[in-house]
Amino acid sequence: MPLDDLVLGLQRALDRLVRRLRVGAAPVPDRRRLLIVQIDGLSRAVLEDAIVKGRAPFLARLVRQRGYRMAPMSVGLPTSTPAFQMAAMYGVRPDIPGFHYHDKRRRADIYFPRGGDAAHVEATQAAGRRGIVRDGGTYGCVFTGGAANNLLTFTMFKRPTGAGLLRTISMAVVLAWVILKGTVVSMFELSRALLRVAADPLSVWTGGWKWLAIKIVISVWLRELFTLAVAHDLYAGVGAIYVNYLDYDIAAHAWGPRHRRALRALRRVDASIHRLWRVLRRVPEYRYDLHVLSDHGQATCRSYRQATGGPPIEEALFDDFFDPSSTPRPAELEGRAHRIASGLRAYRSRRAPGLFQRFVNYLERDFPRLLGEMPESRERAGIRVISAGPNAFVYFLDSPEPLTLEEIEKRFPALGTGISAAPGIGIVLVRSASGPLCFWRGRRYALDELHAGPFAGRADLEQVVEGIRDLMAMRSAGDLVIYGIAAPGGDVSFISEAGTHAGPSPDEMQTFVIHPRAAAVPSPITHPIQLYPYFVRYQEVG
Ligand SMILES: [Zn+2]
Repeated sequence: MPLDDLVLGLQRALDRLVRRLRVGAAPVPDRRRLLIVQIDGLSRAVLEDAIVKGRAPFLARLVRQRGYRMAPMSVGLPTSTPAFQMAAMYGVRPDIPGFHYHDKRRRADIYFPRGGDAAHVEATQAAGRRGIVRDGGTYGCVFTGGAANNLLTFTMFKRPTGAGLLRTISMAVVLAWVILKGTVVSMFELSRALLRVAADPLSVWTGGWKWLAIKIVISVWLRELFTLAVAHDLYAGVGAIYVNYLDYDIAAHAWGPRHRRALRALRRVDASIHRLWRVLRRVPEYRYDLHVLSDHGQATCRSYRQATGGPPIEEALFDDFFDPSSTPRPAELEGRAHRIASGLRAYRSRRAPGLFQRFVNYLERDFPRLLGEMPESRERAGIRVISAGPNAFVYFLDSPEPLTLEEIEKRFPALGTGISAAPGIGIVLVRSASGPLCFWRGRRYALDELHAGPFAGRADLEQVVEGIRDLMAMRSAGDLVIYGIAAPGGDVSFISEAGTHAGPSPDEMQTFVIHPRAAAVPSPITHPIQLYPYFVRYQEVG
């Protein structure tokens, strides 16, 4: 858009002025620089379809005419943003079995949208390794990747030097423009919605207003803010930038991964990437390599309550399989109070990075909870159940280490066959003396028997088996890991949504990396950990 260009041009002139006043060194043009654009939640299948149907015109052109290539990527298990980013940003095999899980040793839940949890996971699991975005910028990500700049940190206001002031003005130009434009577009979206309501008053009762509020916040403001902030970094020659556009993932959760509203969100993200591309072409001396990738896809699903007509899974499991009579022990309650207190401390001491990123995390999976709902978990008689999408974890809290099937079935005989034969349940994963096992529809499968079971006919069977092995090697994965994926009658999520991820369906696991043809991207990519050595090389000068 020409006006955006004008604003960016003004801002760029201000940046030059900052340098001319000799208050900051010009960036060295000799090294290659890294720009990663993540389209959250987009499977390769949906992208390929969108390209054919003209729903992602810029990405189509990038691949067809601009010397870029789309490489397939399999992302392992769970198919979830924090697990992907931990592996890609730091090159470690994460212990992150889902978006919400329990750590039995610490007696605490990890729930990514909550303040301090992402920071805690990043500090403990990245363990001082060099992040791929070190000293760069991350926007909309779960982790910082070592970036100095997370959007809306206020470090730039700390020391009011001449440079600081000018930079502040420069950033303020961008922010003012985002606010002006965001307001105008919000008004436009609102009036469109009003017209829609006038035409179809029932839509108000089917969540139309909630969706609209989210759409205005995410699609307009955040995407604008990210795009302009990244453009700002590109003009400044920042060495590594990782931006995550959330629009598509959020729409796909709400409406399904192939719904027209989700595809419209994809189209808007495509347009933003095009804008970044135009900025890149104006600063060829910085030699940016653009990468467009996705952290996981989504499976179309029904909710568990739709599938069974009964209560949510965290209640159903207690009703049908576990003794419901007793109540949590005082020690557990105490542990929780401690956890909340330490979360607050982390927040106050600003060890928790990016207030803004927490807000983004919060929206990424939890927009219903913006309206006051609580995350799905239940604990009774020393058993904790957490559902986090198409996955639910069962933890036996009396043992700080994961229990094997043999130990579990001493307490609850035939539990694996029982749960896996229940309505709305797909596969049930457990650890055993002889390695991980999978139950499906009342039958038990070793990992080398899966071709005859739930994953019959899968071309990527090897990656599914590897993913299950990795997942059950995570000590924070539940003693039972229950999936609604591969349930009778289609995939099921344990929360209320139309698109879901964390599981092993093909669309969840199979994504892509679009990269410059000449780049030495590993091939084939069967786990995001392979991206780390490739991306981290951009940190080396030259
Ligand atoms: Zn998601």
